[in-house]
Amino acid sequence: MTWERRWHPLREEWVTITSHRNTRPWSGSDEIASAPSLDEHDSGCYLCPGNSRVSGEQNPSYDGIFVFNNDHPSYSVPAPEVQVPADNFFQVEPAGGLCRVICYSPNHNGSLARMTVAQTRQLIETWAIEIQTLIDNPEVSSVLIFENKGEVVGVSNNHPHGQIYAPGFVLDGIRREAEVFERSAEPLMTRMISAEESDGQRIVVSTQRVVAFVPFFARFPYEVYVVPRQQHQFIHELDDDARDDLASVLHEVLVRYDNLWQRDFPYMMLLHQSPCDKPDSYANYHMHIQIHPPMRQPGLQKYLASVETGGGHFLNDGCPEDKAAELRAVSAIHYTNTDA
Ligand SMILES: [Zn+2]
Repeated sequence: MTWERRWHPLREEWVTITSHRNTRPWSGSDEIASAPSLDEHDSGCYLCPGNSRVSGEQNPSYDGIFVFNNDHPSYSVPAPEVQVPADNFFQVEPAGGLCRVICYSPNHNGSLARMTVAQTRQLIETWAIEIQTLIDNPEVSSVLIFENKGEVVGVSNNHPHGQIYAPGFVLDGIRREAEVFERSAEPLMTRMISAEESDGQRIVVSTQRVVAFVPFFARFPYEVYVVPRQQHQFIHELDDDARDDLASVLHEVLVRYDNLWQRDFPYMMLLHQSPCDKPDSYANYHMHIQIHPPMRQPGLQKYLASVETGGGHFLNDGCPEDKAAELRAVSAIHYTNTDA
């Protein structure tokens, strides 16, 4: 079993080897576009209330949001021992840190898009509490809160949930982004919002405190950034009004995604927040959410193929202006919501 970080000298970034996770449970199906379970409780699901997990622990009978430490973490405290290679050309570091799981709802067949704005607001509250605790933990250097949604992005369990990766090093993508914010001569995200708004073609949802748009330079056809107008490094620094707006804008974006093709829309959703190893060095970091859906059309996936994976260069065959127009054209009320 190998569980450690290894340095990639050509890309100058770390790769975490987690061979111990090869045994983690898979309860997704082999079908890419399978229908979601219709049961509100699945006795075989390790995330449903009251069920046992592989660790032997039993989930409480939770009725809102439930957060626990991942039973199959990629990072752990204490960090697993590294196997030092004989040739010192190869560099290794311990895979220290924490991994947590956030169950959004006790309802096994739910989804964030089908939850209410009030429930989405509750999730934002949970994110804020989690980040506030984690950034004070000396074992944690950066925190990535994310959701992989849909089997097409490798989700092993359809129960609505997100994850937190809080490793003892700064994730390379976040480090690069933090350096860009600090180097920029003007407040970068504020400038981006004003450029998007003066153009207007790619705006999806806009409120007094939060704006959502398909960025001019989108890498995925239906990529959306959800950005609080005021700059903060971390989500817990947003005041109540900004959190309210964030909940309603995020909810509306996810509803519009589902309404596009009248099905659960797969995505990777990430909270971009400042590194927390030395947060004073990243005072200009502008916390925001990025959503990267992996689909080009119904049934047609965008693969991270040779040019993306090997060339480090994204090809996007969707025109961002057209994709934003598609998202604006569908209803802001979920297609399964028959009350409205
Ligand atoms: Zn479940």
